[in-house]
Amino acid sequence: MTERTRRFAADRTLGKLARRLRMLGFDTLCECEVPRRRFEETIDAERIFLTRNRREFAKPVPYRKLFIGSDRPGDQVIEVLRALHIQPEEIHPFRRCLFCNVPIEAVERNQVLGLVPDYTWETRERFTRCPRCRRIYWRGSHTERALRELSVWIRRAAEERLPKPEDPSPGPGLASGDRKPGP
Ligand SMILES: [Zn+2]
Repeated sequence: MTERTRRFAADRTLGKLARRLRMLGFDTLCECEVPRRRFEETIDAERIFLTRNRREFAKPVPYRKLFIGSDRPGDQVIEVLRALHIQPEEIHPFRRCLFCNVPIEAVERNQVLGLVPDYTWETRERFTRCPRCRRIYWRGSHTERALRELSVWIRRAAEERLPKPEDPSPGPGLASGDRKPGP
């Protein structure tokens, strides 16, 4: 796994965190959107499994995992940023559909006429669209708010020392998982 291609798989306890990680541009599967078996099958060795459930965290699995201690989504984001030493330059906000987890694409302004509120169409130059669900995104007060929140997360991740989670894994809550011994 390179630093540039961090990918996550959040279990059913972390749906809100999953959406926030997508907002930051990270490829994040969420168990709340797919059947359990399919969710487990899609976690490959390069994904990091995120859970708040200690029993899930204790299971031996062939992929890396991170226990999330906080129950507040903002603090959960900070836990992830801190534990993995994610740097601000790795964060690319609003490049991924929050609902489908696929990269969104630039779309001609004329193509969204009638599909977004008139005022929005008249006052915005750039629009993006999810190729899967066709949801249209644009910069507005909601994204400005989210960006402010994001800058707070980044600053707190750099400054704060969160209490170490009470898990048996080495490091700040990150375990490499149990790998099958080679032949
Ligand atoms: Zn979508």
